[in-house]
Amino acid sequence: MPRAVALIEEVRACTLCAKSLPAGLRPIVQFDRRSKIVIIGQAPGSKVHKSGVPWDDDSGNRLREWTGLSREEFYDPAKVALMPMGFCYPGKGRSGDLPPRRECAPLWHERILSTMTDRRLTLLVGSYAQAHYVKSRKLTETVRVFAAHPGFFPLPHPAWRSAIWIKRNPWFETEVLPALRAEVRNALGGKR
Ligand code: SF4
Repeated sequence: MPRAVALIEEVRACTLCAKSLPAGLRPIVQFDRRSKIVIIGQAPGSKVHKSGVPWDDDSGNRLREWTGLSREEFYDPAKVALMPMGFCYPGKGRSGDLPPRRECAPLWHERILSTMTDRRLTLLVGSYAQAHYVKSRKLTETVRVFAAHPGFFPLPHPAWRSAIWIKRNPWFETEVLPALRAEVRNALGGKR
């Protein structure tokens, strides 16, 4: 069995956080050894936990619009890997979803990334991914200097609240999004 396929099976069988997940285990990831772009988000929400389809919600629609990726491209693992900081839905807290499980990224990320032999661009979507990969906890500043970490592209999380953040930071639409779309297209070999 190819390495990436065997690893997906291993992830699907993971029970590490079984006692801490109120909605139960359901790791949701997409990757392939040929993936060119890796999108590292936060954790699945309740809707995605039910459907099992990553980013199949309003946030996903916004992210596709930001990146210029069609749905077909987005769900093609030979093009795009979808790997959140926590693979299972963490449940609800007092003010929205709980943070991604801390156990997940250290356990799985390096192993998954090592199977991708043609990775060209990694999108860090939201503060958890940015804290882990570029050691930054200041989201607005990190996105403002988006070119500071070659190979990575930091973005805010595309939840509905991002509309308020974008209003306060209009440079995101005029400067960051055109650069993002160009990098995404470039990573895919310039073809649509
Ligand atoms: S969140 Fe990650 S580490 Fe925890 S059970 Fe799910 S797959 Fe395993």
